[in-house]
Amino acid sequence: MSDIPQERRVVTAIPGPKSQELQQRRLAAVAAGVGSTLPVFTARVDRGIIEDVDGNRLIDFGSGIAVTSVGASAEAVVRRASAQLQDFTHTCFMVTPYEGYVEVAEALAELTPGDHAKKSALFNSGAEAVENAVKIARAYTKRQAVVVFDHGYHGRTNLTMALTSKNMPYKHGFGPFAPEVYRVPVAYGYRWLTGEENAGAEASAQAIDQITKQIGAENVAAIIIEPVLGEGGFIEPAKGFLPAIRQFAADNGIVFVADEIQSGFCRTGQWFACEDEGIVPDLITTAKGIAGGLPLAAVTGKAEIMDAAHAGGLGGTYGGNPVACAGALGAIETMKELDLNAKAKEIESTMKARLTAMQEKFSVIGDVRGRGAMIAIELVKNPATKEPDAASTAAIAKACHAEGLLVLTCGTYGNVLRFLPPLVIGQDLLNEGLDIIENALAAL
Ligand SMILES: *Cc1c(COP(=O)(O)O)cnc(C)c1O
Repeated sequence: MSDIPQERRVVTAIPGPKSQELQQRRLAAVAAGVGSTLPVFTARVDRGIIEDVDGNRLIDFGSGIAVTSVGASAEAVVRRASAQLQDFTHTCFMVTPYEGYVEVAEALAELTPGDHAKKSALFNSGAEAVENAVKIARAYTKRQAVVVFDHGYHGRTNLTMALTSKNMPYKHGFGPFAPEVYRVPVAYGYRWLTGEENAGAEASAQAIDQITKQIGAENVAAIIIEPVLGEGGFIEPAKGFLPAIRQFAADNGIVFVADEIQSGFCRTGQWFACEDEGIVPDLITTAKGIAGGLPLAAVTGKAEIMDAAHAGGLGGTYGGNPVACAGALGAIETMKELDLNAKAKEIESTMKARLTAMQEKFSVIGDVRGRGAMIAIELVKNPATKEPDAASTAAIAKACHAEGLLVLTCGTYGNVLRFLPPLVIGQDLLNEGLDIIENALAAL
């Protein structure tokens, strides 16, 4: 288990010489289509610090894209996964099952919203979970159409590319895409033309109008939405939007799928972000934060929907791998023991207070938003026109990286800096990271 002093330390240029050497090998051996935000090669990770091969210690505001919420070497994850490794690495749950898979399904039934009977199926990646949610919804409804939203992101496989909104880099040149996928408006409050206060009602009315007039509600198997949109720019659909869409789905026999792959497992200060508006989805997809960094994903939902697919229709060789399941049980244990929902809310109050103060000083910050430890700033050239400022966003990320703070960008317009610190980060590191962001804004 890693035990690294929780202090930033920059001892070489970033990336340093050893990272640069590894990067040369990587460029020769690894496909160019697999990018990296920051080509600093990792040696060890503990709570809020990533230590690189040159001995630099970076503050982590990324958590490997919202994955290592409990840290990348959490004691309970390491302990349980190591014990499982000693016993067996794999049998394939579809050949001879094991208890860990069942325990994870039981935990998901307990933690996800709603008190109805629930069942789960486990997979390896978020995209695979979303694909399977579509399979299950189609089997249950015997309908084909799938509705998704502007700015939505659901993965990189063929079906999930079709479900994803943004062309570059996710879809460009990779078509043709899967059919029967329809995209409708989402209540993006900051950019809604008639104002944030109207966005929930107007966007839901437009979305429902498009579904009924262009697709036909009776043809729709599933509506899939991220309760807080991730890659699309940490967009919290404006108030009223999610309940209206959820109600429409219920009224029309459509399976409502909450894609909580990024927003789930304490990230937004709730076990699942849809709880903030009292939404109970029919199906929920999870991955990322679920297993402390081990590859695991799930579809969880109403038992009668989950049971609609015939035996053998769902699964996969590695789905619900025993080591990953042990990691998930360790991650969930850590979330409960350390009350990471409360930690996420503390991170939100620290970050929002500081970022809102920065917004008053720096007009490039058009919007501060997000919930829990899923916080973002949207950068604009002019707060009146809201013209996206992708160049400043990239410049600030670069300046932060040079100082030893790992930040990520996102957004349809590439103009959102997103902050996803591990929920176990210390208050000092959090504030130091915010100081670095503030200095980068001042130097812009
Ligand atoms: C990351 C993500 C996915 C895809 O997960 P992978 O594990 O990368 O396949 C799907 N939906 C959302 C909301 C995500 O953030």
